[in-house]
Amino acid sequence: MGKPNQAGVVPFEQARAIVEQYCDRVTPCGPEAAPLLSASGRVLAEAILADRDFPPFPRATRDGYALRAEDVSVVPATLRITGQIKAGSSFSSAVESGHAVEIMTGAAVPQGADAVVMVEYTSRSEDHVTVQRTCARGENVVPAGSEASSGDEMLPRGARLGFAQIAVAAAVGKTTVQVCKKPRVAILSTGDEIVDSAQSPGPFQIRNSNSYSLAAQVTAAGGDPVVLPIAPDEEVALRRLIEEGLKSDLLLLSGGVSMGKFDLVEPALVALGAEFFFTGALIQPGRPVVFGQIIIDQRRVPVFGLPGNPISTMVTFELFAKPVIEALSGAVPARPPVAQARLTREIKTKPGLTRFLPGFLRGDIHAPQVAIIPWQGSGDLMASAQANCYVVVPSDRDLLPAGEMVSVLMR
Ligand code: AMP
Ligand code: MG
Repeated sequence: MGKPNQAGVVPFEQARAIVEQYCDRVTPCGPEAAPLLSASGRVLAEAILADRDFPPFPRATRDGYALRAEDVSVVPATLRITGQIKAGSSFSSAVESGHAVEIMTGAAVPQGADAVVMVEYTSRSEDHVTVQRTCARGENVVPAGSEASSGDEMLPRGARLGFAQIAVAAAVGKTTVQVCKKPRVAILSTGDEIVDSAQSPGPFQIRNSNSYSLAAQVTAAGGDPVVLPIAPDEEVALRRLIEEGLKSDLLLLSGGVSMGKFDLVEPALVALGAEFFFTGALIQPGRPVVFGQIIIDQRRVPVFGLPGNPISTMVTFELFAKPVIEALSGAVPARPPVAQARLTREIKTKPGLTRFLPGFLRGDIHAPQVAIIPWQGSGDLMASAQANCYVVVPSDRDLLPAGEMVSVLMR
C-alpha cells in the first residue's frame, strides 16, 4: 500500500503556499440576497457604495459652542450666543464674528463657524459665553464628505461582513445585501473503529468526534457542513461515500491517510482520478495531511484528507482547509491570525517539523504570555479543549527557552 507517488511531503510554508495559489484560482459560489440582520459573517458579492457624503454635513464631535476660531485667538474671549442646535435639527443663519451658537454632538456646524470649542472650556452667563481656551480652525468638526464622498466604494466585493462592515451597509441603507452563497462542505469520517456519537461504543470503538468538530470549524469559516455517514476501512464503501461527498463544493475526509495497512483514503482518491498537490506536510500534529482535487462532471472539487487524530484534524483544517472555504465563499483568504507572546515554560522538541502545539495565551494587553498545555499527543481532546491557541515551533528549533518571544496561532 503506502502513499501514491504523485506529489510529495512538503515543508509547512510550501504546503501553505500551494493552498494559497489554489485559492487564487477558485471560482466562488454564486450570489444570493440576504437580509442585513442575518448577514453576519457572510461575504459581499457586491460593492457597497456611499449613497451620500459621509458625514453628510460638517459634524460637531463635542458638545460646546460653534464659533469662528479667529474670535478666540486671544482668551478669555466673550461672545454673544445667537442660538442652539441639537443633533438632527437645522440652523438657518450664519455665525458672524463675535457670535457663537450652542451646539450638541452630532449636530451640523452652521455656516460661518469653523470650530467647536468644548463646553468644558467655557462659562456662560445668560446670552454670553466666555471662552477660556483658544482653538484651531476645524477643531472638533468633521468636514462633510471627509470619510467618503457620495458614490465612493465603502466596502469592496469580497469583504466579510463583521459588525463594523454591517454598520457601513446599514449607514448607506442596504438592509438587503448581495452575498456569496455558502459553499457546501462534505465531511466524511473514516475508520472501522469509529461509531456515531449517539451510539454506545464497544470496548475498542471510538465515538466520532471529528465530524462534529469539523462541522463547527466549517460553519465558523463560512461554509455549510454536509455530514456524511462514517465510512468503513473498506474500498468499495469508502469510494461510494467519497463520490457522495464530491457532490459538494469541497470534500473533507478524516482518517485513513497514514501509512497503515488500512489507510485507504489515498488509493480510493486515486481510483477516482485525484490529482494531488501534496501528500504530507512537515508539521506536527498533522503530518499525513493530503490535498488534491478531483474533476467530476466538469466540476473541480478540492479534497483534503485530514489525519484522523482529533487535534491533527483540527490543526490541518485551520492551516489548509479554511482558506479554501474562504475562497469558495468569495473572500480573499485571511492570513493565519498570528500574534507574539512570551513563553513562560520551555519547549523541547526534535527539529524537522513545524509544530503547532496547543497552548494557553494569557492576554495581558502589554505583555501577553503563553505556555503549551501538557498533552498526550494529537489524540488528546481534553488538552485541545483547554487551549485557546497553538504555539508555533519553527522547524529548525529543538529548544524554545522560557522567556523567548514566540509566534502564537490564534484560534
Ligand atoms: P487514522 O488517521 O485513521 O489513522 O486515525 C488516527 C487516530 O484518530 C485513531 O486513534 C483513530 O481512532 C482516531 N480517529 C480517527 N477518526 C476519528 C473520528 N472521526 N473521531 C475521533 N477519533 C478519530
Ligand atoms: Mg483510521
